[in-house]
Amino acid sequence: MLQDKDRIFQNLYNDGDSGINGAIKRNDWSNTKDLISKGRDWIIDEVKLSELRGRGGAGFPTGLKWSFAPKEVGSRPHYLVINADESEPGTCKDRDILRFEPHKLIEGCLLASYAVNAHICYIYIRGEYYFEGQRLQKAIDEAYKKNLIGKNASNSGWDLDIYIHYGAGAYICGEETALLESLEGKKGQPRLKPPFPALVGLYGCPTIINNVETIAVIPTILRRGGKWFSSLGKAKNTGTKIFCISGNVNKPCNVEEEMGVPLKTLIEKHAGGVVGGWDNLKAVIPGGSSMPLLPKEICDTITMDFDSLVKEKSGLGTAGIVVINKDQDIIKCMARIARFYKHESCGQCTPCREGSGWMWRMLERMAKGEASKDEVNMLMDVTKQIEGHTICAFGEGSSWPVQGLIRHFKKEIEERNNFNPLVKKDRNIPYLVDQHLLDK
Ligand code: SF4
Repeated sequence: MLQDKDRIFQNLYNDGDSGINGAIKRNDWSNTKDLISKGRDWIIDEVKLSELRGRGGAGFPTGLKWSFAPKEVGSRPHYLVINADESEPGTCKDRDILRFEPHKLIEGCLLASYAVNAHICYIYIRGEYYFEGQRLQKAIDEAYKKNLIGKNASNSGWDLDIYIHYGAGAYICGEETALLESLEGKKGQPRLKPPFPALVGLYGCPTIINNVETIAVIPTILRRGGKWFSSLGKAKNTGTKIFCISGNVNKPCNVEEEMGVPLKTLIEKHAGGVVGGWDNLKAVIPGGSSMPLLPKEICDTITMDFDSLVKEKSGLGTAGIVVINKDQDIIKCMARIARFYKHESCGQCTPCREGSGWMWRMLERMAKGEASKDEVNMLMDVTKQIEGHTICAFGEGSSWPVQGLIRHFKKEIEERNNFNPLVKKDRNIPYLVDQHLLDK
């Protein structure tokens, strides 16, 4: 268990003051100038030493990402963009950083901007987080007033301006290149990569994009040292992480814990246990809705880190843990998630645009017991036709939850659909017609 002295987010529950005075009391902004004076190579090396992996879902090493930015500024300016478009169902960690610990993020923006040679930082925040955005703006204004950011920020000799940009509520704008398109005022659709944003990003300029939590932990890492951070957690899965626990638990919460903490500990100790007791657990989605679910047998022993979850064919993702107990209809739950992805597909790639609707409609039929035997394998086949055949990772994000369901609950689907040739199925619902259109 994480000790209090190693907790980075000391105001996660808003027990103190989220404004500048409270932040300074919590040691934010204490020696920012000294940290910057050590130079950008020192900052990047320290972040590499910490082995910090991006907290937005992909888990890419942060120090390595920063080192992709050109060393010298050429004819094009560099930008830092913060991804605060937290839209993954089951995830609400960035929200609490934005409203309760905004200065950690702002100080992190200054340090990261300096490290990647950026004088302008945009924070792209989802439109639904309007009040969080207001809180953040208030904190940015406080930082400007105290000359912590702006011209000669924190007396470091570095100039930094920070702007908030509100999104309009599209899930896909959390994908980094769709976010850039949206920031440029265009339709939020992902770009083909390469080129990668580190070289050709916002307005065609070198751009580093990081998640809110990733940047908010930077000041503490630099203050306490990369080695301190890497001493927490497990090898290659270091540091602390905010886990969001929701669903059928007695006390849904956000909690900062060490990476590699057992899932059972998180649920039992921090979230008050599963509703109906641990034995009433059916499955857990460990990393936001796009990660494959895990059945109880795996949840009994699994630890929450990138590598352990990948071994079980799932992923840490955003660490949005959704607990599903035996009172729920697991097929219906996954149909609901599939409907979300169908709705949020940007439509550029045929496998994603068409496949996400296929998956949703087939799952609806399975939930009602109206599917035929061949459809279970056909559904798996559809997921495979999407996965790896699209412009962005949304294709995987929409097909993995379905794969998880079939992998672990195939028997339940078969029983529900009672694959008996003598039972007449309602074949009037064609695959290619939206159920909701038929309902109207
Ligand atoms: Fe759009 Fe889906 Fe293609 Fe991503 S995978 S670009 S969301 S259609």
